[in-house]
Amino acid sequence: VAKEYGSTYHYFTRLLREKNVERSNLLNALHQALEKDELEVYYQPKVNYYTKEITGVEALLRWTHPEFGKVPPDKFIPLAEETGLILKLGNWVLREAIHQLKVWHVEGNLITMAVNFSIRQIQHPRVVQTVQSALNDAGIDPKYLEIELTEHTLIQSHDAAKIHELKDLGLTIALDDFGTGYSSLKYIKDFPIDCIKIDRSFVDGMTHVPHIAALNSTIIHLAKQLDYEVVAEGVETQEQIDMLMKEGCYCIQGYFFSRPVPAAELQELFDRGIGG
Ligand code: C2E
Ligand code: CA
Ligand code: CA
Ligand code: CA
Repeated sequence: VAKEYGSTYHYFTRLLREKNVERSNLLNALHQALEKDELEVYYQPKVNYYTKEITGVEALLRWTHPEFGKVPPDKFIPLAEETGLILKLGNWVLREAIHQLKVWHVEGNLITMAVNFSIRQIQHPRVVQTVQSALNDAGIDPKYLEIELTEHTLIQSHDAAKIHELKDLGLTIALDDFGTGYSSLKYIKDFPIDCIKIDRSFVDGMTHVPHIAALNSTIIHLAKQLDYEVVAEGVETQEQIDMLMKEGCYCIQGYFFSRPVPAAELQELFDRGIGG
């Protein structure tokens, strides 16, 4: 977070402290954020480095408060999760992202859209209908939607049935932040996963810490054995790409190609391509 938001992040934390903005104030503001049009979805491309094509994007929520400025998702998403507001926000992101996906499809960019889901969304009794109607309303084939679940959210064994139901719609499931939870192997044993996203902390250490390189290599080979897609996230350098390619991980996401940007800015990248 600190890197993407730079000084904004520190400014924000300082402001909160100075102004003694309390949780409840932040929560009140967040409740109004939707109505006041302060939310926006940014998109970060996922690149197949082998073909040099943008194969998909991940939708990431952004909040700009008129007084607090840019509030980092790591600050407000957990709050929204605690209070249940994430259901409303998550649904908004889903609809917004799928609508944007339709625009790109109509323009001829047949990419996939990955949307982060909180466990509270998964556990909601109507989640399957919600997702289905969002897809139907936009006229999007479910195979272009990927739901990202993170290991940190305490997915329970009985959530597996719900995840199966979602998958039955025809969409795909990615396990986010892979390797950072306490029970990574249990998750892939119990849940119908299509893709794992290698957490940034592994990608970070890979090039200079031998045992992280070994873990990284093991994760990639594990994914291949299980016939999962594998995506490396937080990729920032050519050296990291070279190493990932050598291990057989072609799908790359990170600042190296692009930060998360508004939809209009991604258009440029579609047109220009990611080059050689
Ligand atoms: P995440 O799903 O793991 O998303 C990846 C985070 O890493 C994003 O932070 C992204 O901006 C950042 N990132 C991407 N590439 C790089 C890189 O090369 N270097 C570095 N240093 N960072 C990189 P962001 O956008 O601040 O989001 C933070 C977290 O907030 C997300 O982590 C996700 O867990 C949560 N989040 C964001 N939007 C949503 C949403 O719509 N719904 C839910 N439930 N959670 C969301
Ligand atoms: Ca994610
Ligand atoms: Ca992640
Ligand atoms: Ca994360």
